[in-house]
Amino acid sequence: MTAVDRALLPATAGTATDGWLTIGGCHTGELIERYGSPLFVYDEDDLRGRCREAVDAFGQGRVVYATKAFLCRAMARLAHSEGLLLDVATGGELHVALAAGVPASDITVHGNNKSAAELIAAMDAGVAYIVVDSFDEMDRIDALVAAGHRVPRVVVRVTPGVAAHTHAYIATGQDDSKFGFNLGNGDAHRAITRAERSATMELVGTHCHIGSNVFDVGGLGRAAEVMATMAAPLDLPVLVLGSGLGVAYVNGEETPSMRRWADVVLDACASVGVRSAVTVEPGRALVARAAITLYTVGTIKHIPGVRTYVAVDGGMSDNPRPVLYGSGYEGGLARAPDAERPLEARVVGKHCESGDVILHEARLPADTAVGDVLFTPVTGAYGQSMGSNYNRVTRPGVVFVSEGRSRVVVRRETYDDLLLTDIDDDY
Ligand SMILES: *Cc1c(COP(=O)(O)O)cnc(C)c1O
Repeated sequence: MTAVDRALLPATAGTATDGWLTIGGCHTGELIERYGSPLFVYDEDDLRGRCREAVDAFGQGRVVYATKAFLCRAMARLAHSEGLLLDVATGGELHVALAAGVPASDITVHGNNKSAAELIAAMDAGVAYIVVDSFDEMDRIDALVAAGHRVPRVVVRVTPGVAAHTHAYIATGQDDSKFGFNLGNGDAHRAITRAERSATMELVGTHCHIGSNVFDVGGLGRAAEVMATMAAPLDLPVLVLGSGLGVAYVNGEETPSMRRWADVVLDACASVGVRSAVTVEPGRALVARAAITLYTVGTIKHIPGVRTYVAVDGGMSDNPRPVLYGSGYEGGLARAPDAERPLEARVVGKHCESGDVILHEARLPADTAVGDVLFTPVTGAYGQSMGSNYNRVTRPGVVFVSEGRSRVVVRRETYDDLLLTDIDDDY
């Protein structure tokens, strides 16, 4: 029944004199009128605040933003201006980060299957380091250096055999994983030894990342212990512990603070005498809460004795997480963000699938009506970045708001954008 928990809203969320939700001093109804619906609204102050919390907790140069959570040039510049490095996992992410003006020396490169072209782009640009993920990749680097490309700094990704308590699709630290070199079966040590002796790579550290949206810092602490024990005798410049720090998506959820996470992993490292720069790669925890998505209600269908469907003008193309992982969110009306929500409904999108659900078990105000603007909080991570053009639906715009001003950082797609890559020539 209760309203959306204010703690789930971006830091500068407020209420306008007419009762509407404001973010960054901007009236959400006016934002929808000006920029169209649906719309991602990011609170720039919230983003900066979270970046600062991370740097305060881990230290300057020790926080790397995992750009896959949400990437555009404005975001890359914002994170870099707050003192973060940027982590990219594909040639495409590298391209966007470089296009934003972030120096290659502040970019780290991941990926479990990097192509030769992606490795060349990273090596020639001179990235901070490449996180090597397989023996085949090492072979590829050998060949590229032999062909004249510059020797890269590398970090070896280790799979520590620690299972994260999260959805199976985003658990990556267990033995049965496509990522990294297995610690238990000796592959990790073989990879580290090979990199140490190699003339084609400069080994600067080791890395692990056990999964995403982890609520139990204990799991992150255990992975840190395993890694620290392995890394201490190597005494390499960096030890990267990935991320995984979860965020609260629905009322009542609680997540560890950045500070608590730092205490747990830094203590684990200190206790075994690690002297390396302990580095983390948060994605979700930096950007998820900073954004809300605004949608417009198009139809409401009451099926007596079954359920009520509230359909909005977006769906799995702007937020695939409910379909992929069964993720839960809250929803509310932008004109009455603190209203009681007695109406039980399922909020769905406009795609041609029954799986196209935004809120499985939504609570909404009783007077929710066609034309209302609905907001879903905590949609800043893995929504826009995982979006698609399914059903040839054009993707929403993204605006940054701060101190009463708004600016478009990703413009809404047009129908003509759908034809940009579509070739209709005769043979
Ligand atoms: C996805 C990913 C991250 C970020 O994870 P979050 O849980 O979003 O913080 C960090 N490092 C690596 C290697 C990743 O794949």
